[in-house]
Amino acid sequence: MKAILDLLFPRRCPVCGEIVRPAGSLICPSCLPELSFTTPPVCKKCGKEIADETVEYCRDCMARPHTFEYGVALLNYNEAARRSVSQIKYNNKREYLDFYGKALAARYAGTIARMSVDAIVPVPVHPSRKRRRGFNQAEVLAQILGKYLNIPVSPDLLIRTRKTHPQKDLTPRERLSNLKGAFTAPPIPPSIRSVLLIDDIYTTGSTIEACTCTLKTAGIRHVYFAVICTAGGR
Ligand SMILES: [Zn+2]
Ligand SMILES: [Zn+2]
Repeated sequence: MKAILDLLFPRRCPVCGEIVRPAGSLICPSCLPELSFTTPPVCKKCGKEIADETVEYCRDCMARPHTFEYGVALLNYNEAARRSVSQIKYNNKREYLDFYGKALAARYAGTIARMSVDAIVPVPVHPSRKRRRGFNQAEVLAQILGKYLNIPVSPDLLIRTRKTHPQKDLTPRERLSNLKGAFTAPPIPPSIRSVLLIDDIYTTGSTIEACTCTLKTAGIRHVYFAVICTAGGR
């Protein structure tokens, strides 16, 4: 059955966009080296690569305290990652998330097990954006990761109440105020005390930070995160 599906809907590579050979793989073996997987030492808070293993945190995390516990990132945000993520978001290539979800699960299964979270929560996009795009990339990624790691996914624990300007052209301070009041959380079931937030990119951490503050105000004790890529490490 799977072979027939592969024939009918050949899998496209998240890096080059061509049909993947051999069939059944999620990425061309020759494209894999174009992605830059994070390697130690990494910041103990945000997972960005750091140059010096004698320090615990990256410059960002030393300058700005975060209220989340800690997080992990699969890739450094290089040109191949940038193209791949923008294809997912703006060109409907959600199938690429199968590769990233599987790779995140394979690499961080142990770390995520130690977090012992009760639920995976995708960073929400505004409903109008989700309607236009047809899906929320963080939610699709969360579902894939949840399936591999056998952790329930709760997309309803965070709601995006306000549309925000794109974060990429803003300073860290502007990013935070841009996100003020952007998220809200409904009453949280008492059985959920720890969550793993999922997003595509971590830059200065203001989105994850804003989500964490909302969740902790609503009663969540521990917030961790996992992202596909992290920008500006080492
Ligand atoms: Zn390829
Ligand atoms: Zn850091």
